[in-house]
Amino acid sequence: MRHRLDAEPAVLWIRGALGRWYDTHRRDLPWRRTTDPYAIWVSEVMLQQTQVATVGSYYARWLERFPTVAHLAAADLQNVLKCWEGLGYYARARNFHRAAQILVRQLGGRVPDDPVAFRALPGVGDYIAAAVLSIAFGRPLAVVDGNVKRVLARFLKIHAPANAPTAHKMFAPVAAQWLDSRDPGRFNQAVMELGALICTPRQPRCEVCPIADGCRSLAEGCQADYPRRLPRRAVPEHRLLAAVVEKGGRLLIVQRPMDGLLGGLWEFPSLPLAQGQGAEAACRAALFELLGLHVQVVGGAGRIRHAYTHFKIDAEVYCCTWQAGRVRRRGPAAHRWVAPDRLADYPLTGAAHKVKARVWGSRTNAAERTR
Ligand code: SF4
Repeated sequence: MRHRLDAEPAVLWIRGALGRWYDTHRRDLPWRRTTDPYAIWVSEVMLQQTQVATVGSYYARWLERFPTVAHLAAADLQNVLKCWEGLGYYARARNFHRAAQILVRQLGGRVPDDPVAFRALPGVGDYIAAAVLSIAFGRPLAVVDGNVKRVLARFLKIHAPANAPTAHKMFAPVAAQWLDSRDPGRFNQAVMELGALICTPRQPRCEVCPIADGCRSLAEGCQADYPRRLPRRAVPEHRLLAAVVEKGGRLLIVQRPMDGLLGGLWEFPSLPLAQGQGAEAACRAALFELLGLHVQVVGGAGRIRHAYTHFKIDAEVYCCTWQAGRVRRRGPAAHRWVAPDRLADYPLTGAAHKVKARVWGSRTNAAERTR
């Protein structure tokens, strides 16, 4: 299958049409008003897996807290994760923090404009490198993200699945052929903007598309068939028991291991629940087994469900009071006994937020029932 545009004039026409359209129709976004490479980097790290509408407030807050690479490098990781809380994919924040520390040590906090040096930093992959270096420094590197793949797949009827592990290899040469090296930052943003505003996943607005004249899938009326995708793998669901353990008015939270999923975030102790296992007895046994604590189970607070990217959890929530024992060192990365109104100081997992809401909600409901 041939995907390249043979005629150079066709590529020149695409560059011109997309560039002119972008100049007129682009959204006025905060990160488009700066030339600071660090601020552009912040926006691209956030935008990598998160919608523009969500990123806006996070971006402003982040730059207020960590206005330069040096500020980010000097920050405590807990504060970095707290600032990232709710954006998901927390490895992005941990890697960004590490990258900032490396830059301060090696380059005095300067963002390198060299692709090899920049690409060597933690968390900097093909997308971040191309986006930041093209926009901030005018480096001729083509961005390939979901929006770009959708535009290319439809325009050229590319059959390769856009979510296959080899997709980048397939799409990158086409994106590089299209790239306008006179102003690569503008061109990259133009293609991404077209994918975000016009060539949308559902019901593309082909009637106002600036490159509709050359689009192969529009000509055949098969836009909905592209991009092709491999079927998603089923996401496993884990049955858990979440224990809210109270001791002298404080609640136990534990920190997830730094190198795992949601690494560095805090949660209420969560314990696997085997099929057919009585939850209350399992709760007591598991808290002793895993943390060395004797507790009394006060009551259930219902169930919460939460979906992460790679798994879902279905957890029964139990409120317990501490009876005896000290938290063992093995197991969680760290633990704290925290007053309920200080929980907000810690970056919590999404599931922990739901547990918190569930417990506080059930307490409020119980209080209302007794009135
Ligand atoms: S014509 Fe339609 S399908 Fe083709 S690139 Fe434009 S919006 Fe996408």
